[in-house]
Amino acid sequence: MKWVDRACFFMICTNETEKECLERGLFGDQEWLFPYLKVIKRGDIGFLINVSNDEIIGVFEADGPAMLNIVPEAWGGRFPAQIKVKLITKEHKRIDSASLKLKGILELREVKRDKFAYKIPKQKAYGPDVTNKVLGLFRVDDYFYSNLGLYDDLGLFPQYKLEDVAGLEEVKNFIYQRVIAPFEDWELASKLRLRVGGGMLLFGPPGTGKTLIAMAIANHIQAKFIDISPSVIIGYPGEAEKRLENIFHGLEKEPRAVLFLDEAEWILCRREDQTSSVMQRVTPVLLSQLGRIFKNKNKPIIVIAATNKPQMIDSAFLRPGRFDKLFYIGLPDEDARVEIIKMQLRDRPHDLTEAQIKKVAKRLEGYSGADIEQIIEEAAFLAFESKDYDNDVKITIKHINEAIDKTPKSVSEEEVRSIEEWARMRNLIE
Ligand code: ADP
Repeated sequence: MKWVDRACFFMICTNETEKECLERGLFGDQEWLFPYLKVIKRGDIGFLINVSNDEIIGVFEADGPAMLNIVPEAWGGRFPAQIKVKLITKEHKRIDSASLKLKGILELREVKRDKFAYKIPKQKAYGPDVTNKVLGLFRVDDYFYSNLGLYDDLGLFPQYKLEDVAGLEEVKNFIYQRVIAPFEDWELASKLRLRVGGGMLLFGPPGTGKTLIAMAIANHIQAKFIDISPSVIIGYPGEAEKRLENIFHGLEKEPRAVLFLDEAEWILCRREDQTSSVMQRVTPVLLSQLGRIFKNKNKPIIVIAATNKPQMIDSAFLRPGRFDKLFYIGLPDEDARVEIIKMQLRDRPHDLTEAQIKKVAKRLEGYSGADIEQIIEEAAFLAFESKDYDNDVKITIKHINEAIDKTPKSVSEEEVRSIEEWARMRNLIE
């Protein structure tokens, strides 16, 4: 999942309480705020704001749901509504003038997550008189991270490995051997004049792990991950061209990098299919920069394009020396679905047996990995609703089945058929 897709929350500390937050990897608040905290889920991004000196400290990720008294003795028991967090920036980076930089964001009050919509008390800016320390759950865009100077810190994605991608064994093996291995034995690869890096296209229905794979590759080769998707570039306030220019300029300093181009069909389509005027402006700039990268064989850069609509891509872009490694990232098969269910249940209390998990996986034929993630998330909410605050709450097969009933497949058979037809015509699948 991209940073911009993650929900974020703020929590506040003071000079007095900060040290304990950092040392324990724990954020805490007063008990009456627990209902606000419970919408936070694992993976949401947490910002810790020190209101005594107006600093944002590091960027964290929730390491599980909020609970009461995870560490009862923390802060002398004053803040029992707690959430475990992991630092995701390289260090406890401190960003000053937090109130200024977060202006606008703190005024954001309403958040919807599925049926959970709740109001966060309006809070113009925080200050020493702040009483409500939970500033809520919200979404930020890529600009927010770059504005805070966090883009660099978040450039690496340490949390994903190819092993975390379920199924797709053939694709993963090929990527290990052909894409990752040359980076690992750079010297031999250079001696043999192997082309290291270059372009690849991951195509397949939405929610099947394409972004996950791109991030994992960056992690394996310890490369900076740079998102150049249209939604990021075009969503950037100010000129998209300037943003692109900055990115490519910055690349010169990077020893190695992974450029990720999601929704690639918008850039790699035939020129006459280009409808938006911004795209018409930005595409030539991006293509000429990519052309330079593809020609420069000494610079280890991988450009990963991802698309759900390969049919829209102009085949000129798929010629050797451009996006010439093509991988079909299909819907998970039954074994992969078992794996994804287990991954999603990992670290959550549940009482599902192996046989039940297999049965669920069978039932989920045609569902994407992202759908399965959503189902388990929904099941967790159902479990949560069934018995408030009880520590023995578990996800059961009943919750899962109810969640499946509520969740339609996000990918139609027609969509899959059309992608596979395209792949078959190119002998990419049988
Ligand atoms: P895509 O880029 O193909 O649209 P993503 O890589 O963003 O999809 O996947 C969305 C989410 O779905 C991931 O964060 C992950 O939780 C889950 N997911 C999808 N496919 C897989 C998979 N093969 N293995 C594990 N998780 C998966």
